[in-house]
Amino acid sequence: MNRYDLLLRGGTLVVPDGLSVADLAVAGGRIVAIGPDLEGTAAESIDATGLHVFPGIIDAHVHFNEPGRAEWEGFATGSRALATGGGTLFFDMPLNAHPPTVTAEAFDQKHAAAEASSIVDFALWGGLVPGNLADLEPLAERGVIGFKAFMSNSGIDDFAAVDDDTLFQGMRIAARLGRIVAVHAENDAITAGLARRAMVEGRVGARDYLASRPVIAELEAINRAIILAAEAGCALHIVHVSSGRGVELVAEAHARGVDVSCETCPHYLVLTEDDVERLGAVAKCAPPLRPQMEIEALWEHLRTGALPMVASDHSPAPASMKTSDDFFRVWGGISGCQHLLALLLAEGNDRRGIDPSTLSRRASGFAAERFGLAPNRGTLAVGASADLALVDLAATFTVTAGDLRYRHPHSPYVGREVRGRVVRTVVRGITVQRDGVCIDGAVGRLVTPGSCRE
Ligand SMILES: [Zn+2]
Repeated sequence: MNRYDLLLRGGTLVVPDGLSVADLAVAGGRIVAIGPDLEGTAAESIDATGLHVFPGIIDAHVHFNEPGRAEWEGFATGSRALATGGGTLFFDMPLNAHPPTVTAEAFDQKHAAAEASSIVDFALWGGLVPGNLADLEPLAERGVIGFKAFMSNSGIDDFAAVDDDTLFQGMRIAARLGRIVAVHAENDAITAGLARRAMVEGRVGARDYLASRPVIAELEAINRAIILAAEAGCALHIVHVSSGRGVELVAEAHARGVDVSCETCPHYLVLTEDDVERLGAVAKCAPPLRPQMEIEALWEHLRTGALPMVASDHSPAPASMKTSDDFFRVWGGISGCQHLLALLLAEGNDRRGIDPSTLSRRASGFAAERFGLAPNRGTLAVGASADLALVDLAATFTVTAGDLRYRHPHSPYVGREVRGRVVRTVVRGITVQRDGVCIDGAVGRLVTPGSCRE
């Protein structure tokens, strides 16, 4: 007689080629059986009839700001927000923590902080900044998921933008180490010049900020990063692409054999320039939100797969940093990791008819493959890590500030109707969130590239 830890009965499994109603059994933190009417007993059985079982969301782009700036968010609240929205694994960015993750010592500090309070699994990005080329190998040995560089001002003094020389040399080293380089791609000369002239002339409103970061700044930097990466033989990932043309540059390079991928974020898929004016600083980000036509272009690319991945770029800050008459000076960054899946389901599935399986691939499957975590993360398959989000797709709800699990409960999605309530989140077989209540304690563990292959 089979004895399982957890047995889901009759759920609708979201698998790569569609939907499949079946039982799913978990033992030792892994999915050990999938099929109709599985025989056996379990420590816990769940009637999942009517629920969709997604692979847990893998959010490859968050800023939880710990150690050093935990008052902005921190792993305890950040991971609980993620778990509430079906997230089971996040990749934390190297900046906004202090010290930034640009040395092995800083990696160790962040690893310890995350292990002490995260309720979901985590991977850590290392930073590529001027002066730390010699630190890349020790960071890779620690297990960074990749290296992140800024091609424009990061907004954080101790995380400098890369010059082209540093970026190219860093890419050559990353290629040798077998790690991806991810870039924030905006041309710094263009954006800084436009911003400087606007501020000198006292044009410091939301529209002035938007005008200072035009799409061409993104396109030029994407193009330059692609050329450098191709020459260096380095795998490249463009974070938070905000425009259809940006995705097209990446897809064209990929088609001619360059090892390049990209992501967008929920805010570029659902919010426009007009929302920045309407909502104010809570909707400020860089690159900025765009006109409606870009939203439609991004959705079309997401549908076809030219845009393979969505990550939240959850970038929180205390509300006090979001209030200023000068839009250039307020903190840029959107709080949104809790509703990544619910936004994709509302806007992608409901409004645009994109099937749940495709959305799941964009929100977990692709990231697992791209960052060396497949086949054991990001998919529902026997042998894979039991990372699950049980979702009531029939539930639509309006986001309220009271629902938000962030340390600072503000988000541009407050007041928006979304779809899909995550009734349970499971990390390696452990239930970490149920009916909106998260567990106490910390079960999150470090995930490193290749660590899930065995
Ligand atoms: Zn970011």
